[in-house]
Amino acid sequence: MSNWKEKLLKIDPYVPGEQPIGKHIIKLNANENPYPPSPKALEALQNFSPAQLRLYPNSSALKLKRAVAEHFHLDEKQVFVANGSDEVIAFAFMACFCSPKPILFPDITYSFYTVWCALFHTPYETIALNEQFQIDVNDYAKENGGIILPNPNAPTGTALTKQALIQLLEQNQSSVVIIDEAYVDFGAYSAVELLEKYENLLIVQTFSKSRSLAGMRVGMALGSETLIQTIDAVKNSYNSYTMDSVAIEVASASIADEAYFQKTCQKIIATREKTAQELKKMGFFVFPSQSNFLFVTHNTVPANEIFEALKKENIFIRYFNLPRIQNHLRITIGTEEEMDILLKHIKKIIS
Ligand SMILES: *Cc1c(COP(=O)(O)O)cnc(C)c1O
Repeated sequence: MSNWKEKLLKIDPYVPGEQPIGKHIIKLNANENPYPPSPKALEALQNFSPAQLRLYPNSSALKLKRAVAEHFHLDEKQVFVANGSDEVIAFAFMACFCSPKPILFPDITYSFYTVWCALFHTPYETIALNEQFQIDVNDYAKENGGIILPNPNAPTGTALTKQALIQLLEQNQSSVVIIDEAYVDFGAYSAVELLEKYENLLIVQTFSKSRSLAGMRVGMALGSETLIQTIDAVKNSYNSYTMDSVAIEVASASIADEAYFQKTCQKIIATREKTAQELKKMGFFVFPSQSNFLFVTHNTVPANEIFEALKKENIFIRYFNLPRIQNHLRITIGTEEEMDILLKHIKKIIS
């Protein structure tokens, strides 16, 4: 007789950064935004009438789709929204990666991709980053069932140029290319304008990082009508109402507030550059970053020692015990004050 437990799913899930609770912690481990959401978003939250929760939300979150379409100068039929870009990408995997050929993504990248491959039985092949830990699009010129890569890449923070993205799309027209632009607002080139030319391009963005709404869970995909229709069909075959009424209101107000968005992104970029300079002075190699985090390695002190010592001081950064990056650390950019405290402690630890 076989055991019922043998019939259960066996999977190694994605492990997000720790969410420690406590007042005096400095949290630089999940690439969250140190600044609050737009005041317009907070106002929308306050104006939300709880009695409305009696009703189902609009099943396609039309209000938010329209706000997103307007922001990017796209048609609302080119927009898909769901509970965070993780959910958007999961739907996109189901909708776009149905070939028996392997999909391609970098060996060092967002570690959720391999988890979705396991969950959806998607064959995959990883492509090694070059010696400088950068994506070389020439390495993706081969038969595949699809391509997914973050731009800027995570956890390295380094971005591809417009030229490289065009080359990638030119050489790959027989499968879907997903560009995960979770960090694009911190200084990288966004491929949105390329949607006009490439119908097999899907761009995924999130409200979690540059719009300070990680706790609200809002993500979006931008693409051709054909791609969006297919992803919508998957969503409607799985859960008709992914986005709740509150998130629809808050996110719609957030994306309309361009001034606040620009101001906070610029502040983070300035703090990133300053922090990078200070870390270099202390003997760190700092990868060029166009994201809201820095990927670093020290020339003498092992990464895990720095990680553990900072944790004792209630400062949380990210350490990945993975091949090729065992001696590296990923540090989210916090406020100026948080980074000053971090730098002070790092100076002590490495001396
Ligand atoms: C943070 C992140 C996401 C997911 O963000 P959501 O909070 O689910 O919107 C997706 N891709 C990358 C590369 C990320 O870093």
